Amino acid sequence: MHRPSTLQQLSSGSQWDLVIIGGGATGLGAAVDAASRGYKTLLVEQYDFAKGTSSRSTKLVHGGVRYLQQGNIKLVREALRERGYLLKNAPHLTSIQAFIVPAFRWWEKAYYAIGLSMYDLLSGKLSLGKTKILSRKQTISRLPAISTKGLSGGVLYHDGQFDDSRLCTDLAITAINYGASLVNYCKAVGFEKEKEKIVAVQLEDTLTGNLYTVPARSVINATGVFTDALLQMDDSTREAMVSPSQGIHLVVDKHFFPGDDAMMIPKTDDGRVLFAVPWHRQVVLGTTDTPVETAVIEPKPLEEEISFILDHINRYGSFTIRRSDVKSVFVGLRPLVKKSGTGNTALLSRDHTLLIAASGLVTITGGKWTTYRKMAEDAVDNAVFVAKLAKRECITRDLRIGDPAGREKILTALIAEDPALAEKLHPAYPYTWAEILYAIRYEMAQTAEDLLARRTRLLLLDAEAAITLAPAVAAFIGQELGKDDAWREAQVTGFTSLAKQYLLV
Ligand SMILES: Cc1cc2nc3c(=O)[nH]c(=O)nc-3n(C[C@H](O)[C@H](O)[C@H](O)COP(=O)(O)OP(=O)(O)OC[C@H]3O[C@@H](n4cnc5c(N)ncnc54)[C@H](O)[C@@H]3O)c2cc1C
Repeated sequence: MHRPSTLQQLSSGSQWDLVIIGGGATGLGAAVDAASRGYKTLLVEQYDFAKGTSSRSTKLVHGGVRYLQQGNIKLVREALRERGYLLKNAPHLTSIQAFIVPAFRWWEKAYYAIGLSMYDLLSGKLSLGKTKILSRKQTISRLPAISTKGLSGGVLYHDGQFDDSRLCTDLAITAINYGASLVNYCKAVGFEKEKEKIVAVQLEDTLTGNLYTVPARSVINATGVFTDALLQMDDSTREAMVSPSQGIHLVVDKHFFPGDDAMMIPKTDDGRVLFAVPWHRQVVLGTTDTPVETAVIEPKPLEEEISFILDHINRYGSFTIRRSDVKSVFVGLRPLVKKSGTGNTALLSRDHTLLIAASGLVTITGGKWTTYRKMAEDAVDNAVFVAKLAKRECITRDLRIGDPAGREKILTALIAEDPALAEKLHPAYPYTWAEILYAIRYEMAQTAEDLLARRTRLLLLDAEAAITLAPAVAAFIGQELGKDDAWREAQVTGFTSLAKQYLLV
């Protein structure tokens, strides 16, 4: 991944088969899909890859137990199929996670066991493990911190777990290995049209202000909660189709949840589910579903969302988690597609939506991380059809994502050259300086935030630790990219003020 050479390609004036706007799961998936079918593909992302919702998920590769409760079998079955493909194609970034649903009433064990067995059955050959009823004793031994008052037992089921922004990086690498060109910090700012059809996309390098016009045979809008801005850039009379819904997560120390199992609270006061999931030696608690008016890139948690999660989790534990125990709070926006007359976003469709505009712009939005591959396949199929490109079959169902062995080899070589790079950034976390150097040289990291929030996950795991590391990380990347002291200082100030929003003080 080399940003300067990709930018040079943008000036060449050559025509792209597909230009994909948006570097989250959907856009990057589409880049992998299109490039692996042999189309000449360009992807642009206005910030860093995965800066939007795709780095802010609950980290579950799942069919969605909740959608089963709502009776949406088709959606659950498709997501379970995709869950199976993703676990197979990216084993280095995904894992099988055991979940326990605690039961406090006599009928709950049987009730949840029936529903979750059906969930497992729907996954067919791609099942991750059998659903089982647990006795009270077994539940306490697997969830040692569970509140035992009135506990009758639990139900064990399995789902997938992953590292979302690392998967984005590996999707980017995969797309590039298949010949795609990808560039971060590059924003689509306009369309050029002939006979009302889009023929080129205007781009701005947001780091330098340089402008480019890239000829395109087809354009995919994969901009998540920013979908409407792109649709209106294409047609100023278009009505909004996305209703953003905010979800927050609180990250706490693993000692609150000893053991390897996750907990699923099956029914919150607002009729949703809530998870406590071990992740990178911490525990992620979430999430919420709060309709918001506007889409912003750094959404902020609401007081009531914080109390909602703490209240619910504390009801189920023998502990009390306080605000001061929260190591990081991270927030994402779901790009839910509007249905007229529906006020409650929890009831809006979680399926994906595809729209083809009169200009030929193909918009793909909604859905979830787990189904990104299918969304990408649908988007590329439609773009190929609209632009009358030669039809080629999608091959991503069995396509390996990333190159963990190649990465490992380079990391070892870097450390052999400079043994100091084997040192950890922070004693409590496994990330090394070699990984930082690798991310700058091979993963297009441009800022301290890219390194601390998405190439490593320190900002989401422990915002305080990330703040203390900012000066050293900014100095390191500044030196590697040949930046001056003023740039380095601006990085530290900018990152620190951002990271403070991830702290509950
Ligand atoms: C709280 C929460 C928890 C979730 N948990 C899960 C989960 O556990 N499992 C799961 O499967 N799904 C989960 N999801 C859903 C999943 O995260 C999203 O469906 C998915 O990340 C959306 O990806 P995307 O690529 O469509 O959007 P995004 O990741 O938002 O990407 C869109 C990108 O487009 C870029 N962009 C916008 N405008 C422009 C422009 N003009 N030029 C260039 N780039 C532009 C943005 O900067 C952004 O990076 C969760 C969602 C939320 C909100």
